[in-house]
Amino acid sequence: MRFVYADNAATTAVSENVKNAILPYLTEQYGNPSSLYSFGQTAFRAVEKARQQVADALGAKKEEIYFTSGGSEADNWALRAAAKLGEKKGKKHIISTKFEHHAILHTLAALEKEGFKVTYLDVYENGIVKTQDVENAITDETCLVTIMYANNEIGTVQPISEIGKICQSKGVLFHTDAVQAVGHIAIDVKEQNIDMLSLSGHKFHATKGVGALYCRKGILLENLIHGGAQERGRRAGTENVPGIVGLGVAITDMTAHLEENAKKVSALRDRLFEGASKISHSRINGDRESRLPGNFSMCFEGVEGESLLLMLDMKGVCASSGSACTSGSLDPSHVLLSIGLKHEVAHGSLRLSLGEYNTEEDVDYILEVLPPIIERLRDMSPLWEHIMEEEAKKNA
Ligand SMILES: *Cc1c(COP(=O)(O)O)cnc(C)c1O
Repeated sequence: MRFVYADNAATTAVSENVKNAILPYLTEQYGNPSSLYSFGQTAFRAVEKARQQVADALGAKKEEIYFTSGGSEADNWALRAAAKLGEKKGKKHIISTKFEHHAILHTLAALEKEGFKVTYLDVYENGIVKTQDVENAITDETCLVTIMYANNEIGTVQPISEIGKICQSKGVLFHTDAVQAVGHIAIDVKEQNIDMLSLSGHKFHATKGVGALYCRKGILLENLIHGGAQERGRRAGTENVPGIVGLGVAITDMTAHLEENAKKVSALRDRLFEGASKISHSRINGDRESRLPGNFSMCFEGVEGESLLLMLDMKGVCASSGSACTSGSLDPSHVLLSIGLKHEVAHGSLRLSLGEYNTEEDVDYILEVLPPIIERLRDMSPLWEHIMEEEAKKNA
């Protein structure tokens, strides 16, 4: 049986280059970057080189990059720090959207308990926030706008440059969770007026457990971990040297090949859309154009997402659904509900996220196994039976 990994939005394979770059730091180069002897300084230089690489990829300065344990940590840190700065000025209003990652939504919920007010903007049927809504929501009390660069479930890319412009003109901090975007679409934090940005290595072929927060110079970033002087004293603890080295290599490789990767991956994705759209009672989730190159998201009526995933797994296909299966609840994801899908439709969702290592054969294999699986699930579904009965009545 074929094995097809089509869940690159969840995590990606470590690249050969990253693996090779990391290896010395897992073996002979085990020095502590804080040690003054040259053995330690080798590790220090490797960390600083990676910091420069991350900065270069984002159009930032080296001293604006803080390494973290990943995207969730960077999100938590950015929001907490911005809220603290706002509080000092008596500003306790934050603007975000309804379909952020839980690292954002749950941090905002915690801040709400601490007296902050949060406006969650609509993302409409196409899964894209309206710039005008951002502008309208900003008040004298607003200290932060946090809007994701690209959505992790439906792949829609937000008008980040326009939002950045508005925030700058209004003097409001702008943070973006760019975990799904970095390494996949071009970003320039200066040109786009982004004040803070979160990224995560394992979404673009570095290892898990390493990420970064970009924080514009001049913004006082609250300490996250007290202790040593690492990360300019803001996040203490001996650095994850291999992870950081890999992050630097991965982001450099990805930004050097952005266009060709996007072209290749989006062609595969379009082939998937074209094939899967032939399945009756199906719909594409989110805007078809303003979308991450590798993101495929569709709903199939009369199908139960979890069963669909299990059956794809039996065929060797790693996929994801929007249903909140991890939380043990049967509620469809907040993302699919945010674009106005009814519960029963959102239940039949499928996300396939393609990456640079996928092939046409992978796509053709998915298109071969998917339609019969959906047919089988519909044959067993009382909901599908109901849909068919209703249609028959209408046509009678
Ligand atoms: C994966 C992801 C995160 C979390 O990143 P981790 O490194 O796994 O903590 C945050 N935001 C978005 C949009 C993501 O896709």
